[in-house]
Amino acid sequence: MASPSYKNAAIIYNPVAGQRNVRSGIEQTIGRLAFAGWRTALYETTIEVGAEELARRAVADGAEIVVAAGGDGTINAVVNGIDVAKNPHVTLGVLPIGTANVWAREVGITSFPQLTGDFKNATDTLIHGVPMLADLGLAGDRYFLLWAGVGLDALITQEVHFELKRWAGGLAFAEAGVRAGLRYTGARVRVTLDNEVFENDAWFVAISNIRLYAHVPLAKNADVTDGLLDVHLFAGNTPPQYLKHMAGVLLGTHTQDPDVVYRQCRHIRIEAEPALPVHVDAEPVGNTPMTFAVVPRGLRVLVPREFIEA
Ligand SMILES: [Mg+2]
Repeated sequence: MASPSYKNAAIIYNPVAGQRNVRSGIEQTIGRLAFAGWRTALYETTIEVGAEELARRAVADGAEIVVAAGGDGTINAVVNGIDVAKNPHVTLGVLPIGTANVWAREVGITSFPQLTGDFKNATDTLIHGVPMLADLGLAGDRYFLLWAGVGLDALITQEVHFELKRWAGGLAFAEAGVRAGLRYTGARVRVTLDNEVFENDAWFVAISNIRLYAHVPLAKNADVTDGLLDVHLFAGNTPPQYLKHMAGVLLGTHTQDPDVVYRQCRHIRIEAEPALPVHVDAEPVGNTPMTFAVVPRGLRVLVPREFIEA
């Protein structure tokens, strides 16, 4: 498949997502894309107008591809703004200048210009990228491309200090994880995975569309095109169990742990007492009860050719 060039491309840029002023790098990117035959408009977020609304405007302006220049939160906002149910022809592109860039790592993009100042390689991954149809998850009516989480990890995403995330990146999540872990004591959950029901005390439930969770391969068998979500339920309510789960995920031994329920499924319902927070792609999105579903091959997304051929 040839790499397409786009006559009507949009870049959605969130000036506060990166750790450095990258505006001039984005201008270089637009120039380099023009050299490859793309015509690209820049949409910059403001306090009043976020990435989701800008993606909506870009699609209304006729964009064939909307490039999220930012992190996974910006990608999530752009995916929701594209409204794939109405606009399945619109492609998502990624210029990874966020904090964690988990989606970019998942698909094998290895150039992170906010660290190096080098936008050439990241731009080349757009120019040489090929479109793929990827599954999307739904949490209520919010799309997610990476994962949804219920419980402790959602609490962590709520706790992260915005300023600390901006300057310390992933360390901000570690700091919030320690703070939240000291306070959180789990909850009684009722989790319906397709036709099975589990009632447990749980630390958290991770619903993965991709293999990586942050930078760890939590869902080793996940395939972003198989029409299934990979669910891990981490049971328990004591701090030692929490530490065991954390260690298990980091070491990759959680799949053999009897306190971890793992299923691949299409439809998930989570109820909890007390109600638990929910996040999608590390953005808080509400509380349980929540229903989750998969939209098979619902998103056109530009990825490195090697990811498709792997
Ligand atoms: Mg899958």
